[in-house]
Amino acid sequence: MTLRSADTSALLVDNTSTLLIDGKLVPGSGGTFDVVNPATEEVIGQAAEATAADMDAAIDAARRAFDTTDWSRDHAFRARCLRQLCDALQSHLEELREVTIAEVGAPSMLTNGPQLAGPIEDLRYWADLVEGYAWDQDLGKATPMGIPTNRRLLKEAVGVVGAITPWNFPHQINFAKLGPALAAGNTVVLKPAPDTPWCAALVGKVIAEETDIPAGVVNVVTSTDHALGAQLSTDPRVDLISFTGSTATGRAVMAAASETLKKVFLELGGKSAFIVLDDTDIKAACSMAAFSVSVHAGQGCALSTRLLVPREKYDEAVAAAAKGMAGVGVGDPTKPGTICGPLISAKQRERVEGYLKLAVEEGGTIVTGGGRPDGLDRGYFVQPTLVAGLDNSSRVAQEEIFGPVLVILPYDGDDDAIRIANDSPYGLSGTVFGTDPARIDHVVRGVRTGTLGVNGGIWYSADAPFGGYKQSGIGREMGVAGFEEYLETKLVADLATS
Ligand code: NAD
Repeated sequence: MTLRSADTSALLVDNTSTLLIDGKLVPGSGGTFDVVNPATEEVIGQAAEATAADMDAAIDAARRAFDTTDWSRDHAFRARCLRQLCDALQSHLEELREVTIAEVGAPSMLTNGPQLAGPIEDLRYWADLVEGYAWDQDLGKATPMGIPTNRRLLKEAVGVVGAITPWNFPHQINFAKLGPALAAGNTVVLKPAPDTPWCAALVGKVIAEETDIPAGVVNVVTSTDHALGAQLSTDPRVDLISFTGSTATGRAVMAAASETLKKVFLELGGKSAFIVLDDTDIKAACSMAAFSVSVHAGQGCALSTRLLVPREKYDEAVAAAAKGMAGVGVGDPTKPGTICGPLISAKQRERVEGYLKLAVEEGGTIVTGGGRPDGLDRGYFVQPTLVAGLDNSSRVAQEEIFGPVLVILPYDGDDDAIRIANDSPYGLSGTVFGTDPARIDHVVRGVRTGTLGVNGGIWYSADAPFGGYKQSGIGREMGVAGFEEYLETKLVADLATS
């Protein structure tokens, strides 16, 4: 695939099949693998197929860059590099947009926000944080065991970060790791998902060709081989694994990392609840729930996929959600009105269709959707689907589907809504719609999740920590809390002589 930016001298996407290792763009030792457009099923090009030896070289480069350069100590230089990277990426925004839509199947409207432009702009937040952060803190004088001592806290980078990412929001997740990890002074080996190698490879190319980020500080290793992620998790030269993906893989990463006791930071799956209180506009709230579960074909870990409504208003809620869902634009992600593009792969569509079948087997009713959209013979599309008639113990209500599927469940009173919301192994996010502030507050405090949106409020931004309770993860991404995941704390105690 060859794309040209408005300024044709700034050709970016003429060679996407390279790895970035030790500052050099190199071919994969395993050759290349196909990149498929999920909206058309066409092979749109090739990405570099890295081997274990390539991953070894990338880890080695990251280790050397951390141990032998002053990257981790030169705060001002890092802030400059992050702004330089942000500017360079912005100069390629249209090319990156085209690649993101083609590779991810991301609806174009999302590329103005969390699928591209937002995460790139967020790099400035990390640059500002480097400059404003209290790297050295005075803990004051004390006399522990009778010895007068001046104490200082030094905040330092953890070391080599292995960043392992999924395919659903590749830029958002890649930059939510690269931004704070680099700002904190770490070096990074980024291993993106096999379905979306280009989004990461292009960032590697921009870093190599258009920034002063030193060789080895960022390495990008694309591959179809999941074992390369496992290699990062076990290698003793890697100090921290920052992982986003499924809960099952998160478990494997944590177990693998335990051998070398490296820090592990996990952003995992979700099955979040959208709670509609009985004092609110049920129709508007249910319509909103139906719309939001369809965004990017439901491929968002934090989307609210269980709609909890007052039992006495169940039928009204089902009708409103179904009507809202029927109005969602499905299809070609390049079209500005599309909300629900394709799923990422045939495998993922098969998985989602398996859950639609299961919904009926479990005694549920498909109110709307339930199959492939008419007129879309190519592409991994599934209709936005509303499932009614199940209870929260069903597998469809318990398991993460990662497709545009909403399960509508009745509850009896606010505390029952909280109980059902919490009756899940996950605890990532959620939504509450209501009018009485005291009742809303009661629900907000009762639901055990890392983020909650109230009446349409948006929790996503660079300075707002995001992450999960329970099996949705460990740690927080974004914000100061996200930055500090990538830092160690050193306490220095000086004998006080005066
Ligand atoms: P996945 O777990 O299959 O893969 C994620 C990454 O892990 C990929 O890069 C993959 O190659 C790598 N990997 C696979 N096996 C590995 C192993 N044994 N060791 C190390 N790395 C390994 O997830 P996916 O299918 O790419 O993405 C979808 C999942 O991601 C969903 O469950 C979704 O909820 C989750 N997700 C979570 C968040 C969040 O922030 N909580 C955000 C986006 C996606």
